[in-house]
Amino acid sequence: EVMGRAFVYVILGGGVAAGYAALEFVKRGVSSGELCIISDEPFAPYERPALSKGYLLPEAPVRLPSFHTCVGAHEERLAPKWYKEHGIELVLGTRVKSADVRRKTLLTATGETISYKFLIIATGAQALKLEEFGVSGSDAENICYMRDLADANRIVDVIHSSTDGNAVVIGGGYIGMECAASLVINKINVTMVFPEVHCMPRLFTPKIAAYYEEYYMAKGVNFIKGNVLSSFGIDFNGKVTAVVLRDGTRLPADMVIVGIGIRPNTSLFEGQLTLEKGGIKVNGMMQTSNSYVYAVGDVATFPVKLFGEIRRLEHVDSARKSARHAVSAIMEPEKTGEFDYLPFFYSRVFAFSWQFYGDNAGEAIHFGDFSGSKFGAFWVCKSHLVGSFLEGGTKEEYEAIARATSLKPTIEDAAELGRLGVDFALAV
Ligand code: FAD
Repeated sequence: EVMGRAFVYVILGGGVAAGYAALEFVKRGVSSGELCIISDEPFAPYERPALSKGYLLPEAPVRLPSFHTCVGAHEERLAPKWYKEHGIELVLGTRVKSADVRRKTLLTATGETISYKFLIIATGAQALKLEEFGVSGSDAENICYMRDLADANRIVDVIHSSTDGNAVVIGGGYIGMECAASLVINKINVTMVFPEVHCMPRLFTPKIAAYYEEYYMAKGVNFIKGNVLSSFGIDFNGKVTAVVLRDGTRLPADMVIVGIGIRPNTSLFEGQLTLEKGGIKVNGMMQTSNSYVYAVGDVATFPVKLFGEIRRLEHVDSARKSARHAVSAIMEPEKTGEFDYLPFFYSRVFAFSWQFYGDNAGEAIHFGDFSGSKFGAFWVCKSHLVGSFLEGGTKEEYEAIARATSLKPTIEDAAELGRLGVDFALAV
């Protein structure tokens, strides 16, 4: 039998949530040798959102170590040295292949058994693959996904060999929109293909989507909506040269980026922990159905107090905050209340920057100048403000919409709300 190691705390996964959890452990006085982080990526935790933004820029792209966590929240940057200095064991490039929550052990692909007293599951999610939708040939070297640094490096390489060429971006969500913008900045011709009627369909209203789409089109991006990929044209080297759509349209392609959604990495715990809404179900302390096991970030389905229901979110702010909450609950349970989280998403493309708080439920009321650079929407559900979107706001304005949304004020006059716009939030 292979020798094993034992830790008080083990974080499984070394992404965003792991980095913020580590910082919180240190702030709360973890001792040297107590904490271990296991990750199949060969890097210390980093800010994943940088990959589709600064990482892909043609001029002065960001590279590690500049975007290790926790710079994204203006906190300390935790380079590998930091972990060493604090006696935190970073087990990198190591996949955990099975878990036993009854015995409190993890088995790594290298054959080591690592045992814990408390486990934090922070395994995140993986990109959905075209194969799952019955499209074959997607293992070609110029078909790219975007989830981790290895994916981003591959995209950088493919960009370099596609100068002045054509890219097809499959999917109109965050990944598609951010990658498309980066490709345009790299002077690559972009066609975006997605089945919905507009981009970012899970969040944007048609009016908000139209604003960004017009800008993308002015930058030369071609949108093909209501259509999906059906197959690839492949040359004798196995390289994709064209994308064929369901209606027969054939798009020449030097590269393809696929951003069609993610699947949470729950498989190690299926049959051992309660799952719900595709994630590992936790309570307000981020605790799973096994009281020694916590789950945070993209993999966790947690109670969102504000909405009175449980949700799984796929956004960086929730990964950061849920991770810190779990550590607080583990180390100081009597001082830790239920996680009270206001959902927050953001994106940056070209010179745009937007923030969204709350829930996009009910009726959307637009405000601001849609022919200018500052506009947004409020969502009103059952006469309460439940969600706010703002493009081009100041720090104070973003804080104001966040605060207003968290208070869920009663809205009597929707038209008035639309006229007031950000001023409504500033006055709440
Ligand atoms: P992850 O950061 O994915 O970390 C999970 C880690 O676990 C990975 O290192 C993985 O390799 C490891 N792992 C998984 N299984 C195992 C195993 N069996 N053994 C060992 N290790 C394992 N959100 C926003 O709000 N705004 C944005 O602008 C934004 N941009 C993004 C851009 C990109 C390109 C991507 C991919 C995501 C973006 N997100 C954004 C989402 C955000 O990055 C995620 O919500 C966040 O990373 C989730 O953190 P996590 O720690 O739960 O998971």
